Amino acid sequence: MSKQKIEKLLIGTNNKGKLQEIKNLLPKYIEIHSTSEFNLKSPIENGKTFKENSLIKSKYFSKKTGLLCLADDSGLEIDLLNKDPGIYSARWGGKKGDFNKAIKKIYRELNKKNKYWKHKKIRARFVCALSISYLEKKIACVQAKVEGHISNKPKGRNGFGYDPIFIPKNKKKTFGEMRPAIKYKTDHRYFAFKKLRKFL
Ligand code: IMP
Repeated sequence: MSKQKIEKLLIGTNNKGKLQEIKNLLPKYIEIHSTSEFNLKSPIENGKTFKENSLIKSKYFSKKTGLLCLADDSGLEIDLLNKDPGIYSARWGGKKGDFNKAIKKIYRELNKKNKYWKHKKIRARFVCALSISYLEKKIACVQAKVEGHISNKPKGRNGFGYDPIFIPKNKKKTFGEMRPAIKYKTDHRYFAFKKLRKFL
């Protein structure tokens, strides 16, 4: 499988921000399909790790469509919150995926842990696991991270999710303030893709 070139690939996500980012990272010769063409809901993510949840998604969407499927599971780990929201990053946004609400929750939890947190560097990282499955079979599964810290207020309107509160290491701007072309080339998904490239 790894020696053959992939011609057709389903991207197993219902998140438009991720779909766009993943499309930009894939080689142009691959015919890309999205879950919205098949009107599919996402499966229950009951894995304990990013990798497990990514495999749950790629296997589920592959079985539903009969297509080879690439799925990711990603999230933000904050050290002061014992790595929360972590694999629950999407769920902190509630049913409607409201990330203003999720960001407020993060600030509330940080305040509970340490009311002076704004004066400290709150270490955090984005993690991304990517997997490719065909029906029940795992073809590949990789993971990458990007280290950084939490901004003491949300900044920037670009990107999605927690982008406005994450400042990558050695940078001054949040992901939300960066031009998308810059973010795409420095984030967790990009580095996970680099690891996955040999399977494409
Ligand atoms: P899931 O992988 O679909 O369970 O969702 C992961 C969640 O983590 C997303 O809904 C976002 O809230 C967050 N997340 C993952 N990657 C990024 C990113 O690149 N920027 C901002 N938020 C992200």
